[in-house]
Amino acid sequence: MKKLLLGCIADDFTGATDLANNLVRAGMRVVQTIGVPESPLTDEVDAVVVALKTRTLPAADAVSQSLAALSWLQAQGAQQIYFKYCSTFDSTAKGNIGPVTEALMDALQTDFTIACPAFPENGRTVFKGYLFVGDELLHESGMRNHPLTPMTDSNLVRVLQTQTSRRVGLIDYRTVALGPDAIRARIETLRGEGVSMAIVDATSNADLMRMGEAFRGMPLVTAGSGVAIGLPQNFMNSRMNSHMAPQEQAAKLPPARGLRAIVSGSCSTATNAQVADFIARGGAAFAVDPLRMAEGADVAGEALRWAEPSLKAQTGPVLVYATAAPDAVRAVQAQLGVQRAGEMVEHTLAAVARGLVERGVGQLVVAGGETSGACVQALDIATLRIGPQIAPGVPWCHAPSVHAESGAVHIALKSGNFGAVDFFTHAFSLLSSEPGMQ
Ligand code: ADP
Repeated sequence: MKKLLLGCIADDFTGATDLANNLVRAGMRVVQTIGVPESPLTDEVDAVVVALKTRTLPAADAVSQSLAALSWLQAQGAQQIYFKYCSTFDSTAKGNIGPVTEALMDALQTDFTIACPAFPENGRTVFKGYLFVGDELLHESGMRNHPLTPMTDSNLVRVLQTQTSRRVGLIDYRTVALGPDAIRARIETLRGEGVSMAIVDATSNADLMRMGEAFRGMPLVTAGSGVAIGLPQNFMNSRMNSHMAPQEQAAKLPPARGLRAIVSGSCSTATNAQVADFIARGGAAFAVDPLRMAEGADVAGEALRWAEPSLKAQTGPVLVYATAAPDAVRAVQAQLGVQRAGEMVEHTLAAVARGLVERGVGQLVVAGGETSGACVQALDIATLRIGPQIAPGVPWCHAPSVHAESGAVHIALKSGNFGAVDFFTHAFSLLSSEPGMQ
């Protein structure tokens, strides 16, 4: 078996496809697995992204699952480990980025790693340790209202320091601009000062490429998906990997089949606008009400009964959504509790996704990281093949599912904040369906 070059551990499912997408575009052959596989790798690939759903778990659970993923990746011979979190550094007050990073460092017996959520192509930049979402600081962006991981501090050195007992430092834009040698020298200086994790500034793809070269051979890299664009080149010189070169076209997926649907549980600013745009264009949409779920109503069943005539008529994609504005989400959370509201909505939307696929949906868009995790699990999807990019960070994927009549679905997992306002319409325009389908 050929040795795995890069072993990746992602803390949610949309983040995993986002990372896989960037690695594929940089020329790597990638497989994404849902959870830790039970058997060894059989595919001949350069990278594996193990998708976990650990972002909002208690830290101890997130740590143990991440360590299990690490063991499996090490058993496949992974030469470098990449811990992937969100480009908005989504974390709970207690973690989990710090605790998981620490545990991975201990297991890998390494005393230094970096942390960089920057993804400039998607408007996520880090300057002097402060994270910007587009033109806004993180704490001024919609992320301050996130239902599960509200981000109220934009200073990532400070945020990470609250999650770890190790010292956190900064590699700032001036050092990054000087290139890989300067970055490596700064790492040595920080190490000498007792720092073991450093936030790294990046405002452009050029910064990510300089960083990538500097991180050659670093046992553990922790980052959003952006840093991944600069790493594959480190493995290119090896004769065995001569196929590795940046490419616009990801591996082609089989032709899309079946009906079209969208399930949305993200309450981000971007997804709220995308849902509104879909409805304004006359799209068929059904809002699920969390308070009725709490009363014990069969909300998933109602949504599926609503969807059936539209699916039959094949008049276009149907949308089932819990997406709501911050005030509405807060009102629901006040009544049900944050955790319970989130889980109930995820559970309902996952049942809807499965029901839709059982009713002939073969092209499914899911909006929301946690929501995607729940839907992918309900569809018993174990692996995803990465296809063409719909928007930065969001590819179409092809995944076997026993719940689909054809045995597989085309599925796109959209992280809440990603995609332009017409994302839902645009996504389906990229898939050419077989005759007779929508
Ligand atoms: P994102 O990618 O935007 O972070 P997620 O799916 O990860 O989206 O997180 C959104 C969370 O909000 C999920 O747990 C979801 O179940 C929950 N949620 C969705 N709609 C509502 C609502 N109307 N009220 C309360 N919670 C909601």
